Amino acid sequence: MYALIPGKGFLTHREAGEIIHTYVILSRPVSWFDDIDFSDAASTKARIAAEFDGWAPELVALIADADTPPVLRSIYKLPDDHRWPHTPGVTLIGDAAHVTLPGGEGANTAMLDGAELAEAIVAHPDDIDAALTAYEEVMFARAEEEAVAAHETIDLIFGARAPEGLANLLNGTAEDAAS
Ligand SMILES: Cc1cc2nc3c(=O)[nH]c(=O)nc-3n(C[C@H](O)[C@H](O)[C@H](O)COP(=O)(O)OP(=O)(O)OC[C@H]3O[C@@H](n4cnc5c(N)ncnc54)[C@H](O)[C@@H]3O)c2cc1C
Repeated sequence: MYALIPGKGFLTHREAGEIIHTYVILSRPVSWFDDIDFSDAASTKARIAAEFDGWAPELVALIADADTPPVLRSIYKLPDDHRWPHTPGVTLIGDAAHVTLPGGEGANTAMLDGAELAEAIVAHPDDIDAALTAYEEVMFARAEEEAVAAHETIDLIFGARAPEGLANLLNGTAEDAAS
């Protein structure tokens, strides 16, 4: 479930066991969160809920009446064109290799990394570093494209067009569906 306006909103998942996981999205500089004492659950809930003053009580209750203390999940990213010099015998796949915005493709990317790495090893059975280098060359280029796409996705969902950007995408309407 999404409830969005530009730069803030709710993203919830209904899990097994009648549990609702709630992500409260607030697009703010890290310093804004420095002023909140997350070890004090009650004041943190009140501070975050205050950002949604006037929203539907059912939504604000996802913060105020939560069973567990709020956890700060900052988003860290490296430059879109991030890459590293090859280190013999070592490489990265999945989230460890793609430190970027959460564009919704992380699991797909991790599986593709694993499959392409396996293909590279099969193609270079006697030279593991040739395999790792071949994998990295292809993966770095794909990772940059994926990072740029993640920016576009985040902007579509949480940016100035919220909530119509996501609604249009899901409905297959307007220009967002074609991008
Ligand atoms: C709320 C949410 C929604 C998402 N939705 C989507 C989606 O719709 N589509 C999509 O494609 N992706 C989605 N993702 C992203 C996706 O879950 C990740 O990109 C993906 O799980 C990354 O896989 P991974 O194997 O690289 O890392 P992980 O799945 O994080 O696996 C790493 C594993 O390493 C273990 N580990 C860590 N440290 C150690 C250690 N020292 N020793 C041993 N084990 C260790 C961890 O316990 C974990 O099991 C979502 C993520 C979140 C949080």
